[in-house]
Amino acid sequence: MVEPSGQARERNGSDSRSAIETSQATRIPFNRSHLSEHELDYLAEAIGQGHTAGDGPFTRRASQLLKELTGAGSVLLTTSCTDALEMSAILLDFQPGDEIIMPSFTFMSAANAFVLRGAVPVFVDCRGDTLNLDERLIEGAITARTRAIMVVHYAGVGCEMEAITGLAERYSLALIEDNAHGLGASYHGRPLGSFGCMATQSFHETKNIQCGEGGALLVNDPGLLARAEVIREKGTDRSRFFRGQVDKYRWIDIGSSYLPSDVLAALLTSQLESFDKIQTRRQAVWHKYHWELADWAAENGVSQPMVPDGCMQPAHLYYLLLPDMRNRQALIGHLAESGVQATFHYQPLHTAPAGLRYGRVAAGGCPVSEQIADRLIRLPLFPDLVEIDVARVIDTVRAFEVS
Ligand SMILES: *Cc1c(COP(=O)(O)O)cnc(C)c1O
Repeated sequence: MVEPSGQARERNGSDSRSAIETSQATRIPFNRSHLSEHELDYLAEAIGQGHTAGDGPFTRRASQLLKELTGAGSVLLTTSCTDALEMSAILLDFQPGDEIIMPSFTFMSAANAFVLRGAVPVFVDCRGDTLNLDERLIEGAITARTRAIMVVHYAGVGCEMEAITGLAERYSLALIEDNAHGLGASYHGRPLGSFGCMATQSFHETKNIQCGEGGALLVNDPGLLARAEVIREKGTDRSRFFRGQVDKYRWIDIGSSYLPSDVLAALLTSQLESFDKIQTRRQAVWHKYHWELADWAAENGVSQPMVPDGCMQPAHLYYLLLPDMRNRQALIGHLAESGVQATFHYQPLHTAPAGLRYGRVAAGGCPVSEQIADRLIRLPLFPDLVEIDVARVIDTVRAFEVS
C-alpha cells in the first residue's frame, strides 16, 4: 500500500483517496494502444472496397492529413520508421565508408539504415538538458567523409535547429530528422519534420499516432521525390504508371517494398482524424506529472524534462532523471510493486556490440549519453490513462525517497 505524502493527500482530497485505494489492484501498463472513433468502420471499408494493397484511398487520406500536420512537401507512407530511414540512406546515395553524424542516445534503426549501405555512423553526445544531439559537438565530428547529420527530437522536444541547419548548410551536409517522437510538435513555430531534406515518422503502437506497425517518409526537397517513389515501389516507376504518366512500368533503380497495406492506412486515417483528442489527453497526463512531481523532484535531486522556450512538445513521453542507476532501478522496482509499469529507454549505440563493430564514436566520447541511459525512467503515458491512475502513479513516485 502506497502512502502519498501529506501534500498529495490534501491535493487529492478524501474522495479520490478512497478511489485510489480501490484501483490499487489493477495494473497500470506503460503503454496501451488507443482505439479512436472510426478504426473498425474504416477497417471494414478498406477490406470491403476491394483495395487492400498499398497506395489505395486510405493511403491518400492519411498522407494528406500528415501533410497538413507536418507541413511536409510530400508524404510517403511506409511500413515502419525503420523502413523510412532505410529509404533515406538509399536516396542520399550513401556509399561504403561515407559517414553520418547522429546521436548515440537513440534507436538503433537510425544507425542500421546507413550501416546497411556500408556507411559509418559517427556517434556524438547529447545535451544534458534536452537529451538531444549536442549541436556544439557536431562540428568537431565532421570529416572529409561526412555526408549528413541525423537529428532525433527526443521526446518530441526540438533539437537546436537554428544552429544545426546552419552547420548543415556551411558544410553542405544533408539533414535528416528522425521525428518518430515529434509528430505535431514545433520549434519556433515551425513543425518538426519540416527542417530536413527528409524526415521520418513512426506509427508503431508505442507512438502517439499508431497503426500497429507503420511509418512515413516526409520529403521536403522536391528534387528527391521522384526517386523516393521508385525506391518505395521495388525500384520501379509503378507510381508514375498508376498516374498514367508512363505506359508500362519497369525496373529502373534499386529499391524494396516499403508501402503499407491500405488496411493499415485505414487505421492510421482514423487515428490522424482523432489527433487533437489524443493529444489533449496525452498533454493532460504529461502536465499533471510535471506539476505534481515538481517539489518531490527538487527535494530528491531528480530532474524533470526541460522544454526550451520556443519548443512545443507533443507529450510523447514523460521521463525523470534519477541521481544514479541504483536509484533508477529502485524506483522501477518500487513502482512495479504497486503494479505500475515504468521503464528505462535507449542504451547508447556507441557501446552496443553492433555500434562498436560498425560505428565510430566522436572524439571525447559520449559521457552524457552513458549517464542519462542509466538514470532515466519513463512513466506510463497513453490517452486512456484515467485520472485516478495518473494520481496513483504520482502518489507512488512521491512515496519513493532517493537514497
Ligand atoms: C520508434 C522509433 C523508431 C522506429 O520506428 P519503427 O516504426 O518501429 O520502425 C525509430 N526512431 C525513433 C527515435 C523511434 O522512437
